[in-house]
Amino acid sequence: MNTIATRLADVQQRIHDAAIKYGRLDKTIQLLAVSKTRPAENIRAALGAGQHCFGESYLQEAVEKIQQLSDAQVQWHFIGRIQSNKTKVIAEHFDWVHGLCSFKHAQRLNDQRPGNLSPLNVCLQINLSNETSKAGIAPEEATELAHLVHNLPRLRLKGLMTLPAPTETLEQQRQPFQALRELRDKIKTHELPLETLSMGMSGDLEAAIAEGATIIRVGTAIFGPRNYKK
Ligand SMILES: *Cc1c(COP(=O)(O)O)cnc(C)c1O
Repeated sequence: MNTIATRLADVQQRIHDAAIKYGRLDKTIQLLAVSKTRPAENIRAALGAGQHCFGESYLQEAVEKIQQLSDAQVQWHFIGRIQSNKTKVIAEHFDWVHGLCSFKHAQRLNDQRPGNLSPLNVCLQINLSNETSKAGIAPEEATELAHLVHNLPRLRLKGLMTLPAPTETLEQQRQPFQALRELRDKIKTHELPLETLSMGMSGDLEAAIAEGATIIRVGTAIFGPRNYKK
């Protein structure tokens, strides 16, 4: 087996072990392979090992890879920061967007989603305390934005996403994930179930699974260390 296939199997084992430990079903936890900064050949290796969902953060390299892999069955997730002048490219190339933080961007993505594609799946990014990046909206703003986004016909609001600063212990790691789950439970309604909790990365996926993650975004543990500081 090649290295990527081996690492992928290790990550799947971690997901399985955590699912058992915390009383979850494996199939309720989707693995998103974060392929930012990796060449298309690495994605092909993961595809060959059965991985079909990939997350990208940098649009130019993402679009190149999407074109190089147009023969393959890939579900593409945009997990980077959204800029207003890039929403059209995102709306045209991706199946999911995880980092939605403003109604302005939501409207642009909605208006620019091509008619021949299904609605764009989106998550609102929530900035809980201690974030590394300044992206994301405050929890107090989430209910209002969720209802506004829900009314856009070309977007499908799936849930919430967060990207907490790294911490040491499992207990510390669980705190922001618990807060995201509780926020989701507060906002959700019958019409707006917000089933997706996009949370957990290579270093804290067990904590995220413990708190109900439905999508974990894993880069390093599958593809190895990234060599440049992106
Ligand atoms: C890079 C990135 C990841 C993956 O991080 P790893 O530590 O490599 O698993 C997850 N989510 C987002 C938003 C990222 O930018």
